[in-house]
Order: sequence, then C-alpha cells, then structure tokens
Amino acid sequence: MIELLEKEYIVIHHTGIKNSNENSFLVWENIKKFHQIKYKEKFPWYIADYHFGISKDLRVFNGNSIEYPCFHSGDNNINFKSIAVTFLGNFDEELLDKKQFDLGVLMISDLVKRFNIKYEKILKHCEIVNTSCPGNNFPFEELKKEIISNVKDESKKESIIL
Ligand SMILES: [Zn+2]
Repeated sequence: MIELLEKEYIVIHHTGIKNSNENSFLVWENIKKFHQIKYKEKFPWYIADYHFGISKDLRVFNGNSIEYPCFHSGDNNINFKSIAVTFLGNFDEELLDKKQFDLGVLMISDLVKRFNIKYEKILKHCEIVNTSCPGNNFPFEELKKEIISNVKDESKKESIIL
C-alpha cells in the first residue's frame, strides 16, 4: 500500500468542467467514476484525483482520503507530498464565484493550520507543469492572500470539519 507520508504542499486545481445547473453532487460522482477507471484496480482505495472538491453551490466533496496520494499534478515527486484541492468549474471560461472563493479560503486555511503548510508551498497546478489549471481567470494570488490573513488572524477561530 502506498501512503501519503508527507503533507508538504497544497495544490490548487479546477475541474475544467464549466458550472451548469446540474447538481454538483452528480458532477462530482462522474468525476470520481472517471478517475477510478484509471487507478481503482491497482489501488482499491483510489477515489479521485483530488482530496477535496469545492463547488459553486457551496459543498465540500471528498475524494481520496488524505492518508493516500492523488495522482493529480503530473509530477510524482509532488503527488506523494501534496494535498489536492479542486474548485468545480472551468476558470478559463468563467469567473470564480465569491462564495465559492470564500469557502475555498476557509477550507484551505484549515488544511494549512492542521498540517502546518508553509505559504510558499500552496501552489497552483500550472506552477508544476505546463497547464492552464486552475484557469486563467482563477484569482490565485487573492486566494493565497486571504488564506494567509485568515490563518494569521487568531480571532477567526471558526473552522469547518473535514
Ligand atoms: Zn489541475
């Protein structure tokens, strides 16, 4: 069994599937099915190429357990040291909703605190390999800034359960 021993990085993705009126639960189920085809036989614990998904209708979905790696970044050295978080949507084609952004900030701040992730180790997928992921419109610098201020602000004790 492969274990994700180190939680050194957080890598941000988008799913590349444009948001629609379709139930985000069904979208996530389809993503999982698609990813499991590739790895489930070899790795029975494999659920998705992401650990967490954040949707426009403000749900946090679970993929692989954070005990295990996700094959998400195109770089196995990073895959075995990273938590994969994806935002449902295609941010090459649409803009990230403010509420979805805020939920992402809250969720990722929690991971940063829980695993003591260094800020410079919060990466967007396109910093690792040549891809547009998480999308040309994705406000990555703002996201990172908000996470940093959220983690530093001790009055913001609010936390969500993962
Ligand atoms: Zn990606």
